[in-house]
Amino acid sequence: MIIDVHGHYTTAPAALGAWRDLQIAGLSDPAKAPKPSDLRISDDELRESIETNQLKKMKERGSDLTIFSPRASFMAHHIGGFETSAAWAAICNELCARVAQLFPQHFIGAAMLPQSPGVDVRSCIPELEKCVKEYGFVGLNLNPDPSGGHWTSPPLTDRHWYPLYEKMVELDVPAMVHVSTSCNACFHTTGAHYLNADTTAFMQCLQGDLFKDFPTLKFLIPHGGGAVPYHWGRFRGLAQEMKKPLLQEHLLNNIFFDTCVYHQPGIDLLTQVIPVDNVLFASEMIGAVRGIDPETGYAYDDTRRYIEATALTPAQRQQIYEGNARRVFPRLDAALRAQGR
Ligand SMILES: [Zn+2]
Repeated sequence: MIIDVHGHYTTAPAALGAWRDLQIAGLSDPAKAPKPSDLRISDDELRESIETNQLKKMKERGSDLTIFSPRASFMAHHIGGFETSAAWAAICNELCARVAQLFPQHFIGAAMLPQSPGVDVRSCIPELEKCVKEYGFVGLNLNPDPSGGHWTSPPLTDRHWYPLYEKMVELDVPAMVHVSTSCNACFHTTGAHYLNADTTAFMQCLQGDLFKDFPTLKFLIPHGGGAVPYHWGRFRGLAQEMKKPLLQEHLLNNIFFDTCVYHQPGIDLLTQVIPVDNVLFASEMIGAVRGIDPETGYAYDDTRRYIEATALTPAQRQQIYEGNARRVFPRLDAALRAQGR
């Protein structure tokens, strides 16, 4: 089985974006503010948005199941306050839950949190619990920078985040560390802010001792880990100077990387540098980079091709495609077993 651990509902029906526009308009003119019940999207519309997009490509490319979360750039936690994020996260999560219900063989949910800059992360826990316990979601996306590119929250190792980590450990769900839209003109959202955040999250964990306090907490760092694999020597050297344990022991029981790297040399490097146990298959399609690579004639985000072509044994490839995902997402493994898979 091939499990793609990083998919977003980027193709949701247009009514969703229109509802969000009204919600944002309502921040300055409350008369315009929509109610959650104003959004009406039928099952047929959901089916069509998936069958003609993600599911079609999954079938073409040979992946079986996608861990599916709300569109990351749409989270935009910097807009409005907690109530804004709470209503928006609830709507977006519910749509992903409906997709998973309509296509139980192919999609399973991961939650967006109703984060808001400066707000206690405890406020996110009820939505997370609903998603895991009622919707059967198996993971969550944690935004380390709800300010959208201004980095006003403490590092991920700070006690600020601990109430959320306690709940994650209790529920046994990992977090993909995933920022949203940048509202800082210096950082392009998907070209800079995402990759910066991936690198930043790893370095924060390196500097701290978070996993001493939470030995079973798991973070998935997307987009191939940002600059981390490429600069592994720098990180090893910095850890050594800081008198930290070797990275294997310090971080690699808890931190994992996905394969959203859109060229062959990048995947070759990722799989040479990072232990196979810590690499999970993902494509993030239909996402940031939707074009065809003229050098290969294939879509940049068709990451399975790179995994097939890189120097791995069949057993290692299977670990990246399935085994590691089942280990990192225990609730996914349980859900698959319940389906006899
Ligand atoms: Zn993503």
